[in-house]
Amino acid sequence: MLIRAMLFSLTAVLAVTFSATAAARETYQFTLAETWGPNTPILGETTRRMAAMVERMSAGRLQIRIDSANKHKAPFGIFNMVKAGRYDMGHTASYYYKGLIPNAMYFTTVPFGMIAPEQYAWFYFGDGMELMKKVYRPHGLLSFPGGNTGNQMGGWFREEINSLEDLQGLKMRTPGFAGEVMAEVGVAVTNIPPGDLYTALERGTIDALEWVGPALDFQMGFHQIAKHYYSGWQEPAAEVQFLVNEKSWSRLPEDLKEILRVAMRTAAYDMYAQSMHLSGEAWAKMKDNYPDVSHQTFPPAVIDALRAATEKLLAEAAASDELASDIINSQRSYLQQIRQWTNISDKAYLNSISTATGD
Ligand code: CA
Repeated sequence: MLIRAMLFSLTAVLAVTFSATAAARETYQFTLAETWGPNTPILGETTRRMAAMVERMSAGRLQIRIDSANKHKAPFGIFNMVKAGRYDMGHTASYYYKGLIPNAMYFTTVPFGMIAPEQYAWFYFGDGMELMKKVYRPHGLLSFPGGNTGNQMGGWFREEINSLEDLQGLKMRTPGFAGEVMAEVGVAVTNIPPGDLYTALERGTIDALEWVGPALDFQMGFHQIAKHYYSGWQEPAAEVQFLVNEKSWSRLPEDLKEILRVAMRTAAYDMYAQSMHLSGEAWAKMKDNYPDVSHQTFPPAVIDALRAATEKLLAEAAASDELASDIINSQRSYLQQIRQWTNISDKAYLNSISTATGD
């Protein structure tokens, strides 16, 4: 009896071990669609870095094939394609889908909002991830921070901006929520695909534009036409995102889910560090090679008007939708608290050690 029982349990152990080994050997193929064109610096490097990490950490059990915009032809269709299951994953920016899901845009950046370290703290240790889940879950999607550009520049202007009057009728490319804010203060806002921006500025179709920051602006050549480079207010911490179809995610065994989650988070943080690195490098080069490019900040009256317009639009959004109100209030109260710390740490440090030469 005893021997039979022992044999039985040995067989059971072997069966369990065998099925666990089979699962451990099973290979999963995921597809990812990115908004970016092939070989896009920083953004495209982020998806490839993530996929390479996943493949190495899983010893090849999870492989991710990446399709760039030239392949899938729908740079702003990532949300719909991942939702429909045409792709398992996407790499894009949530504010591109403002028209489909208005509450998505708060997870990229908010004018006058948090800077990157504050926003990461809100995502991972505040309510950010939970609120983002509430926005995406009804669409069968999971969303994860996918990399930060760092503080974005306010843009390239052909003429100096000295007053609010200088903004009246100014033709400028600014997409998303910031575009709505600029329209409120009298700017004639347009959105133009990235590939056509240089020509539009050169031909005078637009008088000004904003793109990202030195890391990505320099190679676009805007500095050859517009010489006034303004610090920003509109995208203090633009976070792109990884989208994952929930059904695809649930097919993965637990260890592969964790590998994917860790690789996305690491690649996102790498993008932030790389953006910082390349912007530093590009701005130093720009100062050396184009001394006629001048760095500017908007005058206080312009900043005040942009801030008032931002507050007005946020109040309207909060009044029209309960979840929008929850997100806006969460970001606002988190910012109020964490900014006090930023002010006595990073800001006070930089102010207290700054010299007349601005170093
Ligand atoms: Ca931008």
